[in-house]
Parts: sequence; structure tokens; C-alpha cells
Amino acid sequence: MKILVVEDQRRLGLLLRQGLTEAGYTVKHAASCSGARDALCETSYDAIVLDLGLPDGDGLELLQQWRRSGFNEPVIILSARDAVDDRIKGLDLGADDYLPKPFSLPELLARLRSLLRRQANVKDTVLEHRGIRMDLVGRTTHFQGEALDLTSREFALLEIFMQNPGRILTRSLICEKVWSSPYEVDANLLDVYMSKLRSKFDVKDDKPMFKTVRGVGYKLQ
Ligand code: CA
Repeated sequence: MKILVVEDQRRLGLLLRQGLTEAGYTVKHAASCSGARDALCETSYDAIVLDLGLPDGDGLELLQQWRRSGFNEPVIILSARDAVDDRIKGLDLGADDYLPKPFSLPELLARLRSLLRRQANVKDTVLEHRGIRMDLVGRTTHFQGEALDLTSREFALLEIFMQNPGRILTRSLICEKVWSSPYEVDANLLDVYMSKLRSKFDVKDDKPMFKTVRGVGYKLQ
């Protein structure tokens, strides 16, 4: 699941990016209103974490523009301004939740999960294929009825395959989705992760769960 984080404080931005990535989300970080607008034009997100005081404008105005133009991504407002009227204004403008700074990362994660759960259509957030069952909101994975312990990266990796069963996914596409940038990833790292993932889905028949397409990428079959 993809989260857009709009936060201009460098340290907090990095912290959020890291914390959400560790929780298995794919994170895009924008540090200004214009950066956030660009990010939202490029792709859609499952949720947005929005700071209010931004260097080139007000997060509330950004939210208002989004809602006017029909963007309905759930939004959690994050701001030092914990005054009641700001909170009411934010919720009136279409924010789904509000978290005053300072906050704890576990609380943000819990609120995010609850938001995604409320938003979710169960059908879209539970993925099933050949005995694998992934609950994207609950962040759990089962194989042949047994719970699997996946790291956040493994979870993100498996999610991409489960969203595209039967499709060959190129190495660069996978790296871009799981590690945000294909350039940050060592060429062997993906293979290491794939072999770890493979070992968790040991199927008895001769059709392995993941097929290597030499020189191209991988396929969940
Ligand atoms: Ca700020």
C-alpha cells in the first residue's frame, strides 16, 4: 500500500518515511505543497499523511483543493496546531483523522491501519492465489491455512506479485515498487529476497510458485 507523506521538517519527514517503510508501506515523501501536488498527479495513494504548516502554503488549502478536484484518498492531518478550530476546520474540509504533534509512531501506524480498514473494501484488501492469502490491511499472510512470518520487505514484495498473478514483472518494476528507487538496489538483493520468499512457499507439485524469467524478471504463476 502506498502512503504519501507531506512534511517539511526534514528529520520528521525522514523518520516517517523510515517508520512507514519498516511497517511495509511504500512511501513517497513530499516536503512542500507543490511537491505534494506533483506526487498526487503522478499516481494514486492509499492514504495521505499531511502536515499543515508547509513552506509554500497551508496543508488545509491543499486538502480543500484535493477534495474539490475529487481526490478521495483518506487523509490524516499531522500538525503542531492542536487548536480545536483547526481540527474542526480540517475535518470539515474532508480530513479523516487528526493527530497533534508530538505523536508516537505506533499511534500513527494504528490510526493509519484503522483508516485503511474503514476505507477498505474487503475484497480489494484480501488477496488470494494458490493457497496464499494476504490481508493488506491487517498485514498478515497465510499459506495453506498457516500464518507466515514475513518481514516488511518480503510483505511488500509478495504484495506486488499478488496484485499481478500470472504477469511477468520486470526487475526494475519490482525494485521501483519495493525499494522506491531501482538505483538504490544492489542487483543481487532482489534475487536474495526472491529466494527467501520462494523458500516460504514450497509447493509439492512441479510448478513452483515463482518463475524466474531469465534476464527479465519474475512471475507468480
Ligand atoms: Ca511544518
